[in-house]
Amino acid sequence: MRPIRRDHAAKTSYDAIVIGAGFSGLYQLHSLRDRLGLSAVVLEAADGVGGTWYWNRYPGARCDSESYTYSYSFSPELEQEWEWSERYPEQPEILRYLNHVADRFDLRRDIRFGTRVVSAAYDQAANRWLVTTQDGAVLTAKFLITAVGCLSSANVPDIPGLADFTGTWIHTGNWPHEGVDFAGKRVGLIGTGSTGIQAAPVIAAAAAQLTVFQRTANYSVPARNAPMSREEWRGIKANYAEHRRTMRSTPNGHGFTIADRSVFDVTPGERAAIYEAAWEKGGLQFRAAFRDLLVDKAANDTAAEFIKAKIREIVKDPATAAMLADIDHPYAAKRPPIDTDYFETFNRGNVTLVDVRAAPIARITAAGVRTEDAEYPLDIIVFATGFDAMTGPLLAMDIRGRDGASLREAWRGGPWSYLGLGVPGFPNLFTITGPGSPSVLCNMPVAIEQHVDWISACIAHMRATGLETVEATPEAADRWGEQVNAAAAATLLPQASSSWYLGANVPGKPRVFMPYAGGMARYRTICEEVAAEGYRGMALGR
Ligand SMILES: Cc1cc2nc3c(=O)[nH]c(=O)nc-3n(C[C@H](O)[C@H](O)[C@H](O)COP(=O)(O)OP(=O)(O)OC[C@H]3O[C@@H](n4cnc5c(N)ncnc54)[C@H](O)[C@@H]3O)c2cc1C
Repeated sequence: MRPIRRDHAAKTSYDAIVIGAGFSGLYQLHSLRDRLGLSAVVLEAADGVGGTWYWNRYPGARCDSESYTYSYSFSPELEQEWEWSERYPEQPEILRYLNHVADRFDLRRDIRFGTRVVSAAYDQAANRWLVTTQDGAVLTAKFLITAVGCLSSANVPDIPGLADFTGTWIHTGNWPHEGVDFAGKRVGLIGTGSTGIQAAPVIAAAAAQLTVFQRTANYSVPARNAPMSREEWRGIKANYAEHRRTMRSTPNGHGFTIADRSVFDVTPGERAAIYEAAWEKGGLQFRAAFRDLLVDKAANDTAAEFIKAKIREIVKDPATAAMLADIDHPYAAKRPPIDTDYFETFNRGNVTLVDVRAAPIARITAAGVRTEDAEYPLDIIVFATGFDAMTGPLLAMDIRGRDGASLREAWRGGPWSYLGLGVPGFPNLFTITGPGSPSVLCNMPVAIEQHVDWISACIAHMRATGLETVEATPEAADRWGEQVNAAAAATLLPQASSSWYLGANVPGKPRVFMPYAGGMARYRTICEEVAAEGYRGMALGR
């Protein structure tokens, strides 16, 4: 690893400021600095690169995207030199990859670590953004690009009594670097989304006792993780271009395509065999077994019933199995988890499932968790309660556009954005994977690279043609909002009423379906058309 060079520390004026040094910020810096020749700096709250994979060090943390798809495509050399060890890489390996990228492209010298942005204000007269960091430093730039991630603002539920707890509590998205010793400990796990489902089996194997507090039962399909051989890698590397083409052609940016058949094109026997094969193969492509799983409730019911039957088959205690299978939303309408032995974990003698929908958590006490009908003594509470998704990290900063108008105010009723890339009233501000773009519904590196490439091309166009400002028009943002709503309404996704896609996990957050559900491939085409038509929907100023 190269030493961090501090020679940029005195500089305060840039062409572009990027906030965040995860997948998005690293590529955005490379793109602006090394391709366009701009002066750029990345401001990052953490002490290292990696974003999600810097913060989420909880046991069992790993990727649900297959490893060969969860990587950058912008450098064929990088593609050829990196090999993942498993079908789904673990957090430390992904963090190593992003550190490798930072070193390989010499990015660290233009990243300021330990630097949290608290506010950003657009100075109209100077046409510059003034960005203020937590330590009071002010930096300026013509362009401000947020690479703050969709899932980077940890959501710790406001349960009364947390301050009284005499044990240790931790949020999975802010996991201590030195790790947590579970040996001999009574652990409570709150949350059964993707993270809780990954963490439970690993914590159960290490702890004396694990109590899982479940409010919303969830589907999960086996990941079928496995080591990858040199042989497999030779095949993948020889065909990377083809794999990338597939990933760019699908709605979700993964390496698999969605089957052409409807659930109702086949007999019940054939359907069961198809689900069984998909279950054995494992992974997110279970949802690609039929084309209508996400749009037709009756079709979805067949997948839901298949998985619920699997849960009842795996989990030996009928009451626990019934609780786990009592799922209230269509399959994959919430982020569909994949797992390694999640349901099997409930067959262990040291694991208990508590239904906190039937008897909600009343408070946290000095000794543990008290529900409305029992008390659970605990040494450690793990909050796997997710994030204030998508808008959270943006609104955590005080961003002010023209005439001092605040983003928090503009988005009071929900995000208002054109393509999830630009906001009316906020010139020269770009939001990578912002609300209104496919983002979390997609294998994210695909969405991130598309955004970075589009933003970089827009800035290059402005420089080539002497343009000074670019700004989404209110009409374009309104029309795009209608398209985002229509795309969601055409699917079953909004039917999961407790989903973080809708903001439902954060009290008081507007219930708006935030990501664009029309598919990454269609979205890419729309963005390309917008650019080709001279940035239709954007006001360009000299
Ligand atoms: C547990 C977990 C598993 C995931 N698994 C998958 C998966 O399987 N497949 C997939 O496609 N995606 C997955 N994701 C989504 C993942 O977030 C993206 O794939 C990707 O890492 C996002 O990169 P990013 O750079 O856009 O954002 P992030 O990685 O979130 O990075 C944002 C960075 O911005 C910094 N930041 C935020 N606000 C400020 C501020 N005000 N000042 C300074 N710095 C700031 C943060 O510290 C962070 O380092 C997962 C997410 C989580 C949490």
